[in-house]
Amino acid sequence: MLLTRDAGERHWRPRVLEGGIAAVALALLCCAAVVGPALDSQHRVAADHALGVSYLIGDVVLVSQAVVLLSATRWRSAGPRLGAAAVVVVLACDATWLLWGNHNPYASVLAAGTLVGNLLWASAALHPDPDQGDAEAEPVAMGLSSGVVLTAAMGLPSAVLALLLLRPRTEPAPGGGQGWASSWLVWAVVVAGALLAVLVVARTAEAVRAAGRSVQALEGLTRTLERQAAHDPLTGLANRATSRARLGTALRAARREHRGAGVLFVDLDGFKRVNDTHGHRAGDEVLRTVAGRIASCVRSTDVVGRLGGDEFVVVLTSAQGEDDVMALARRLVQHLSAPMTADGRAVAVGASVGAAWSPDGQADADALLHEADTAAYRAKAAGRGQAVLFGEELRREVAERAALEADLRAALAADQLQLHYQPVVDLARGAADGLEALVRWDHPQRGPLVPDVFVPLAERSDLVCDLGRWVLRTAVAQQAAWARARGDDGPIIGVNLAPRHLASPSSVEDVAAALAAAGVPPGRLVVEVTETDVVEQGPSVEHLQAIRDLGVQVAIDDFGTGYTSVGQLKRLPCDVLKIDRSLVVSSEPGAAELLALAVRAGHAVGALVTAEGVETSEHEAAVRAAGADLAQGWLWSRALPADQLDELVLARGDASLLRGAGVADATPGAPSATLH
Ligand code: C2E
Ligand code: CA
Ligand code: CA
Repeated sequence: MLLTRDAGERHWRPRVLEGGIAAVALALLCCAAVVGPALDSQHRVAADHALGVSYLIGDVVLVSQAVVLLSATRWRSAGPRLGAAAVVVVLACDATWLLWGNHNPYASVLAAGTLVGNLLWASAALHPDPDQGDAEAEPVAMGLSSGVVLTAAMGLPSAVLALLLLRPRTEPAPGGGQGWASSWLVWAVVVAGALLAVLVVARTAEAVRAAGRSVQALEGLTRTLERQAAHDPLTGLANRATSRARLGTALRAARREHRGAGVLFVDLDGFKRVNDTHGHRAGDEVLRTVAGRIASCVRSTDVVGRLGGDEFVVVLTSAQGEDDVMALARRLVQHLSAPMTADGRAVAVGASVGAAWSPDGQADADALLHEADTAAYRAKAAGRGQAVLFGEELRREVAERAALEADLRAALAADQLQLHYQPVVDLARGAADGLEALVRWDHPQRGPLVPDVFVPLAERSDLVCDLGRWVLRTAVAQQAAWARARGDDGPIIGVNLAPRHLASPSSVEDVAAALAAAGVPPGRLVVEVTETDVVEQGPSVEHLQAIRDLGVQVAIDDFGTGYTSVGQLKRLPCDVLKIDRSLVVSSEPGAAELLALAVRAGHAVGALVTAEGVETSEHEAAVRAAGADLAQGWLWSRALPADQLDELVLARGDASLLRGAGVADATPGAPSATLH
């Protein structure tokens, strides 16, 4: 019993019952097979009988303990093995003893065997099952083997009784032994049968109770798993899949009941800053607070969900119309911009909310969610902290954008885009031996379109990767043509790489393939990426590093417009830092110091610094004073088609050609007729 002493009470009962059943069944067998005939025997002395019977009782107890032990422990530990060995040894010795009686020739060997068996049994007790600690977890339900044993035990009394009845009748012994023994046996069978019935019923009841407990535990586990799969673990709100499904259900119900349904897309403003400045723990706290505030604003029938990151959604099931939806959207904006603390500190966040309404519930869930998302995007672009409805105006704009995107796809396929090149001036040498490639699109109906209009359109899909590959191939092919014409390595060419393209798995290969196809030395190419995109996008930094490992130069573009700190800059691969035009042209107090600071930041990470958007001599003086190495701007030249730059490039960027050829236009913002 020591071997199973740590098992819980729930696990004890079935084992003890099983042990009891085995003991009763074995006792009955012994009575029928050994004790009865022994009592009949003329040849055994009474002392032998008493001894034999006492050994048998001992064996019955032993086997019942073995059953308890083996059903409660596992074979891989030492205890059960020692116990099993003890049972085998003791039973073998006792059986031999019974066969030959006290006068057998191996009496001393058998006595020693019994002693060894008992020692084994004792040592088994010193090796309790190490897994007993988790015995609570073991199933108490009846296994197949237990079932077979119990069924056999139940059938045993009937079998013994049948054997007794069918046994050929012999003359009663002179002492009346056999008759006495037979009636004794019948009573033994009856008592054993009754005992077995009670024990088996008790054991079966245990098994049924255990099965009930298992079903309950399983149901509880299933409920927990279902909840986890449907909810966002951080906020406890519905997750993306559940929110989408709930919106679908709300739309179906609205269709049936001839009413409308709507959805709000909530995008937090300033959340990234909280995360960056105060850490993820504070960010998580903000998300939980926001979840609570949104939930407190909506009706109990509405569903609040978290789509991921700092995006939330509200499925409106009982709104009356667009006005109702917008009233709630504005309330959310107001509630979410109220002061908030995270990690004990005050943090400033707000929300841009987009609303979409389907008056008859006929809209598709994904389409409606996309409309709300578009409206939220518009709210953000319009200055944050606003609520925007996806109404007719936005719908028209979206349709126009979709048409323009299709046109762009077609134009790219038909090779109708062009590249223009803007010279980059080396301020110390006065030479312009570098150029930035800038894409141009002359739309057949709309006329010339600036990249700021169509590049973001391309960025909405992988179209921007196709565009990027085309720009790369065209720019390096032009570089190779200039190199051939000059008979040297040619000018340095800068190419802008869109964030989505840089993050795509093909970006490194696209750069390498373009260089290889044109036979351009990697060092002649500069890949320009904007600072915020690289900082925000996970794989982009790795890709940028891999591109740099090809020998290509990396320029961090538009520096000064994002939140990149000098510390972050140190972690980015950077050969050239391009300072945004807004820092160059600023006339605010302290602008010159800020420009100088940006230049120093570039130099601190070992990069060359380019000043962008230099339009006037004053700008030029400012960037020189700040210590910039390179500059580009309308002061020297706008971006021009390649053939208009042949002369400059062939003269290896002789700066006199920039001004001397009338390319320069010192009048701020005035486009030169010769340039565009
Ligand atoms: P960016 O890379 O910062 O390019 C510089 C922009 O400033 C260009 O506008 C250029 O024409 C303009 N610029 C140059 N000098 C002056 C100046 O003195 N004054 C003013 N006001 N502007 C000047 P652009 O060509 O319209 O390009 C705008 C943006 O579009 C680019 O900004 C770049 O982000 C993107 N872009 C242009 N071409 C490509 C391209 O091939 N691929 C990708 N992915 N993006 C491109
Ligand atoms: Ca650029
Ligand atoms: Ca720029």
